[in-house]
Amino acid sequence: MSHWGSVVAASLLSLGCGAQDPPVQAHDAEGGSGRNPTPAVAGGFDGTRAFEDLVDQVRIGPRHPHSPGAERTRELIRQRLRQAGWPVRDQEFVAQPPTGPAVAMTNVIGLRKGEREELVLLGAHYDTKQIPGVRFVGANDGASGTALLLEVARQLAAQPLPFDVWLVFFDGEEAFGKDITRDDGLYGSRFLASQMEADGTLERVAAMIVVDMVADADLNLAVDLNSSPALRRVLRDSAERIGMASLIDASAPLRVTDDHTPFLRRGVTEVLAVIDFQYGARSSPGPVWHTSGDDLDKVSAGSLNSVGRLLVETLHGVERHLVEAERARDR
Ligand SMILES: [Zn+2]
Repeated sequence: MSHWGSVVAASLLSLGCGAQDPPVQAHDAEGGSGRNPTPAVAGGFDGTRAFEDLVDQVRIGPRHPHSPGAERTRELIRQRLRQAGWPVRDQEFVAQPPTGPAVAMTNVIGLRKGEREELVLLGAHYDTKQIPGVRFVGANDGASGTALLLEVARQLAAQPLPFDVWLVFFDGEEAFGKDITRDDGLYGSRFLASQMEADGTLERVAAMIVVDMVADADLNLAVDLNSSPALRRVLRDSAERIGMASLIDASAPLRVTDDHTPFLRRGVTEVLAVIDFQYGARSSPGPVWHTSGDDLDKVSAGSLNSVGRLLVETLHGVERHLVEAERARDR
């Protein structure tokens, strides 16, 4: 039985009422280039409200591990989750970079139980990269995924869940060195995956979905070859169902290393990265990535809204996928 059946119907219904969607919101005028014509409020997901959480993070400033900005961001995340009725747990750990001293880090996790045994992880990193000589505020790379998940928390608040859901806000996604390597970066997700393997919860993970860099005003979602074929199909079908197939760019698939990678390495087969890895131009990673230019003028509420709607629809698709897999096992 699908608890979300009525929600799917409602979102499909609202597509038929597109004329009632408000025009592009003020945020696009002040925060975006206007290249993305998607309305900022549609299908239940409130991109404008999500964008407010993005702006609040940017105003905090740099949010690298063990910084005052990181602590303030955690307070924001905890407060928003609790406001939406999600129990919150902090996961503290000590990360050891390849060079330099150990660093205290904290993942923040919102947890709710669902009807099925399976667990679905939705993750985003809230840390920003520490770049020498640059005041890096990560409007897209850091704030966007976090803001999107906070709005998902509010979207899911009013309904029973078909499976357990953990909303995971990862610390330490960014490397201390230039690039993410096997032992630098992904600290929060590496720690959570290892803990879940140790206590047995990893076996319950039916899907691990990461959102990162999802507010680029020029939205162009990647096809990630490190994501599972089944979840890539669910994402594509979901985009088609809500009329957003053109958001996914199949012309230049790439292999994304992000917070889903440690779970994949530990045997979780169903992983998915939802990411626009062409920031500021239609090339990867794009000229704005990891620069001071990653600020409010490059992102839009409309893009957040599009990816938010797509993610909610993808969760329905994951539920259908699980039900179908169970039926196939029973036959
Ligand atoms: Zn980054």
